[in-house]
Amino acid sequence: MENINTCIVCGSLKSLKLYECIDKVSSNEKFNIVCCQECSFQYTQNRPTLLEAGKYYLSDKYVSHTDNKKSFIISLYRTIRNLNLKWKLKIINKLNGNKNGYILDYGCGLGNFLSYCKENGWLTNGMDISEEARREVKKRYDINVYENKELFNTNKNKYDIITLWHVLEHVYNIEETIEGLKNSIKEEGYILIALPNNNSYEALKYKENWDAYDVPRHIWHFNKKSVEKLFLKHGLILIDTKPMVFDSYYVSIRSEMHKGNKFHFIYGMFWGFISHLKAIYSKEYSSQLYIFKKNESI
Ligand SMILES: [Zn+2]
Repeated sequence: MENINTCIVCGSLKSLKLYECIDKVSSNEKFNIVCCQECSFQYTQNRPTLLEAGKYYLSDKYVSHTDNKKSFIISLYRTIRNLNLKWKLKIINKLNGNKNGYILDYGCGLGNFLSYCKENGWLTNGMDISEEARREVKKRYDINVYENKELFNTNKNKYDIITLWHVLEHVYNIEETIEGLKNSIKEEGYILIALPNNNSYEALKYKENWDAYDVPRHIWHFNKKSVEKLFLKHGLILIDTKPMVFDSYYVSIRSEMHKGNKFHFIYGMFWGFISHLKAIYSKEYSSQLYIFKKNESI
């Protein structure tokens, strides 16, 4: 286990404990969520080291890297994912002036999004830390998936679009990663980052049971203010934010499960709907997509 002493957003050394969360997906161990006293950025304290982190992903309940389990929650996850694919493609097409270009999906998992992009005319590359995922995506879709170091060493100024769909909150060497991503996009390229929002209604309602704290796999907990400030340090400007509306239902159902509610589906759908309505006015959606560009290209 290791502690973070300095806030990655503002550099402050002072933090306060907010919640004690239990890892209900994999280990049942407890981890603290702390909040920077200067800028309110939240992160997971007493987290596993990078070497220890892998074992916390080894669970039948962890859905992102498994593809053949059947349960209601997993079929719901897949339905939402398929609806999201169309929405994601529409966004990247529009950003690239309705032309196809070169896309990198960083943390591509089993490559569903990349294969959808490839079917629709995009040139595609991926990055994933899992060797098994890299091999599988190559085999299934004939798409090259890099390992992290290789990607950043060999692909400067190459991509029109780089996407990270719920990935950055897992990344240990986050500052080098943002720098690497910046160097990998073309001058006029875009970086799209999807993240859970810790200012959303359900984050504030469910507190330590909020599914998107997902300790210890999620080590950073962002909102619009903190992600904008962190990327600005690296010369990247936030140019647009888009809501990810389906996430409020999925996250609310899972948060009700973490609370031990037998009727988690009904309650989750209800609170997901309330959260969705509230976000229409507050603009604090459950998860949000942030679109960044290089400062000098604007
Ligand atoms: Zn701070």
